[in-house]
Amino acid sequence: MAVQTELHRHLDVSIRPSTLLELAQERGLQPQSTSIESFREKLILTEPLSDLASVLSTFTICQQVLDRPDVLARVAEEAIEDIYSEGTRKVELRFSPSFVCEFSKLAWEDCLLGIEEGIARAKAKLPEIQTGLLCIASRDYGSQSVDQTIEFYLKNQDRMVGLDLAGNEVDFPQSLFRKSFMRAADRGARITIHAGEATGPETIWEAIEDLGAQRIGHGIACIQDPKLMEYLAKKQICLEMCPTSNWLTGVVPSLREHPLPQVLRAGVPVCINTDDPTLFGNTLPIESKICIEQMGMTPAEVQACHSHADRASFIPSKDLPGAN
Ligand SMILES: [Zn+2]
Repeated sequence: MAVQTELHRHLDVSIRPSTLLELAQERGLQPQSTSIESFREKLILTEPLSDLASVLSTFTICQQVLDRPDVLARVAEEAIEDIYSEGTRKVELRFSPSFVCEFSKLAWEDCLLGIEEGIARAKAKLPEIQTGLLCIASRDYGSQSVDQTIEFYLKNQDRMVGLDLAGNEVDFPQSLFRKSFMRAADRGARITIHAGEATGPETIWEAIEDLGAQRIGHGIACIQDPKLMEYLAKKQICLEMCPTSNWLTGVVPSLREHPLPQVLRAGVPVCINTDDPTLFGNTLPIESKICIEQMGMTPAEVQACHSHADRASFIPSKDLPGAN
């Protein structure tokens, strides 16, 4: 198995289905009679989104079970074990404190402590894996919540490797968040932004120029703008692409038509990622296989993507104390 780096994986949607079922049953959110097979069948998307409600219910169940620091520790520990068994030796895991703590009303600090505890436990067993946490500000919770998240990140900058902005790109324009992101950039924050997934290339330009993005989550809309492609290649701004996610959420019509190979061949650094494994039932080796078998890439091109991920990682070459 080739050594891999993964930059775009949401911790709060990387819960093992068996753990999710156990936690949901403990909380009375699933009947005791639900089998793991039927739960997996309900949970994991295998066809492009036909109804948004089923996806939202998966997100809600993840939110509802992540209600105590010890649960977050278990989920983080298992996620690192799973990532390691996929052959990955460097991973950035991201989480949104406002999303994770929305139902439980858990203090954000306790949430972070729980995650750190789990990562530390996993790394005691698997010392060769390098890890870093990204703090997500969620567009959907509005600019006040984004400000709070950025404050939380800045207060704990030595425990997390960077900042992300995620969520609904269409209804929450980036201009709402410009001031707070610029403040974070001025304080030396490493920034990646979910952009150009459900919107056009202009969102990618704004993420770079107005929000200080050094990497872009998804960014598939760049293919519509040759000037942007040229810029991304020249500045070596890495795009964290997620093929299965993009297909299942309907932002590309088929895996065959995913722009990743074309963008890579134009000299833009691109990497391959799972995004939300609980929801998509995927792993990084599965994504790499899809790139070769369905998207026509060579094994060397897939390896080039992993090298791009390695170079673009916000994890310092020497592990940070605390978070790592
Ligand atoms: Zn994402």
